[in-house]
Amino acid sequence: MISLIRHSLEKADRVLVITHVDPDGDAIGSLTATGQALKQMGFRFTLVCDDKVPARFSYLPLSSDVLRRPDQRLAYDLLIAVDCGDEERMGYAYADLPDPRPFIINIDHHVTNTRFGDVNIVDPTATSTTEILHGLFQELDIEITRDIAASLLTGLVTDTLGFRTVGVTANTLRTAADLIDAGADLGFVSMQALNLRAYSTMKIWRTGMNKMHFDDGLIWTSITSQERREAGFRSSSSVGLTNLLADVEEAVMAAVLMESEEGSVKVSLRCRPPYDVAEVAVELGGGGHPLAAGCTLPGPLSEAEATLVQSCTAAIERQSQAARAVAAEAVAG
Ligand code: AMP
Ligand code: MN
Ligand code: MN
Repeated sequence: MISLIRHSLEKADRVLVITHVDPDGDAIGSLTATGQALKQMGFRFTLVCDDKVPARFSYLPLSSDVLRRPDQRLAYDLLIAVDCGDEERMGYAYADLPDPRPFIINIDHHVTNTRFGDVNIVDPTATSTTEILHGLFQELDIEITRDIAASLLTGLVTDTLGFRTVGVTANTLRTAADLIDAGADLGFVSMQALNLRAYSTMKIWRTGMNKMHFDDGLIWTSITSQERREAGFRSSSSVGLTNLLADVEEAVMAAVLMESEEGSVKVSLRCRPPYDVAEVAVELGGGGHPLAAGCTLPGPLSEAEATLVQSCTAAIERQSQAARAVAAEAVAG
């Protein structure tokens, strides 16, 4: 695999790196870490995200160089996609690329990844895309500078909610320790990328919690685009509200529906084992991880809500039955 990457890099002249829309810490961490690695190797490159980089990630090196679209005047011969489960996640940054499309290296950790690249480095056991990048950089003899370490640690900290999620292993913590040894500041990164949120985000949480419902193991809420405007909340991402709802002990699955300006509805899903929201997301045209996934549904919001509640309720029923069958077999066996 590493020889394939080396070979594609050797042939490349101008590299485009794209991460997903509604970027999180792993998206911007992976994007800026890859940019710094390419810089160290002497490449010409452009970093792109089809949504604004959230202000809380502005401490990351190269974050102010991230563009919304590739430079149309330049011909890119290599595209590195980071933290994207499928091509659509790159938004117009990818959809608008002229033909011929560049050679694609797809680096990601989503279990639902569609292997859309010419080279696919997809490891669903990795807790973040930056964890995969850390291994790749070492194999490519890239020096893990303090700045690269900050970018990589940002992805680890945000995708594991501060090393608290189910997939965290001793290896994850060893990677984090390596990055701290390289100069990354865990306290700072955690505060900046995980804890800090805008006041408008708290207003959205208030709106969402005022309107929450709980039925058949599912807890959910929805936010209209007007409520978003009134709160001054510009993103269409649920930024933490779904995690908060998912901690309700009587619930097994949580969902937040957020109506976008154009009327489509962004859905964010969470659950606890043995449930699996990636299954629900894929059924509805999205993707993600077993315990954290998402999709975008057509509006109006009320119809999207009905569709989603039905899918989640059916999944809870199906997955409960499957879990009971496994438990019964274990007892019998
Ligand atoms: P979020 O709830 O926005 O934090 O997203 C949770 C997980 O689901 C992340 O790993 C996303 O990459 C994935 N995800 C969210 N929305 C979509 C979508 N529309 N299509 C595919 N994957 C998604
Ligand atoms: Mn991500
Ligand atoms: Mn990720």
